[in-house]
Amino acid sequence: MRRPLVAGNWKMNGSKESIKALLDGIKQGIGDVNSAEVLVCAPSIYIDGVSSQLDGSPVVVGAQNMSEQTSGAFTGEISGSMLNDFGCQYVIIGHSERRAIYGEDDALVAKKFAAVRAAGMVPILCVGETLEERESGVTETVVARQIDAVIEAEGIDALADAVIAYEPVWAIGTGKTASPEQAQDVHAFIRGRLAEQSADVAAKTRVLYGGSMNAANAAELLAKDDIDGGLIGGASLKAEDFLTIARAAG
Ligand code: PEP
Repeated sequence: MRRPLVAGNWKMNGSKESIKALLDGIKQGIGDVNSAEVLVCAPSIYIDGVSSQLDGSPVVVGAQNMSEQTSGAFTGEISGSMLNDFGCQYVIIGHSERRAIYGEDDALVAKKFAAVRAAGMVPILCVGETLEERESGVTETVVARQIDAVIEAEGIDALADAVIAYEPVWAIGTGKTASPEQAQDVHAFIRGRLAEQSADVAAKTRVLYGGSMNAANAAELLAKDDIDGGLIGGASLKAEDFLTIARAAG
């Protein structure tokens, strides 16, 4: 049985004041969220404060990116051990914004995936196709390539305790959500791809949907067999909306 996971990706948003208000709201309502695990991925500079504010709450903390290196002369970078030191349990890897804006390729994403695990945290590996790729019928080819890069570098067993987030790029921050059927088709494809190498890993790996998931559309998406939770951008910045999604997942 896979425990549903609802993860907020705050991206580069927030201030000390707005984050405090958001966390107060989440803490107040978290009691109603049944079985889902709830995670907030904060901008790195706020992670320490977020961890302190969430002390004693079931909400867990994660990061949105990290270095593939462990330490040393890498100006501006943050390592896995640093994130772990401040209470991070998850790290988002290979988000489409990092792939598209910062040029992260599959090989670098695979190295980051390994570094997250080596630091004792859980990677959330983001995969997904652009609109052009979907329209040219290569969604499965793209998603398979992104997942295979990690399997080839790390082996299938590395995926068992990891999380995959299927995030169609055309649905991120656009208000256009994949239909529950479109999402389920790709999620089933992802699970099938894992199952080709290990049925056990395929049964264990949580596959989240991300892309304009909100309080109104979450329940329908989360009802699908292979959708084990959500990676939520915009709607994770509003406590009530985020909690509504978490309740739907639980
Ligand atoms: C995301 O950035 O991972 C995301 C899913 O964003 P949004 O929910 O805003 O589309």
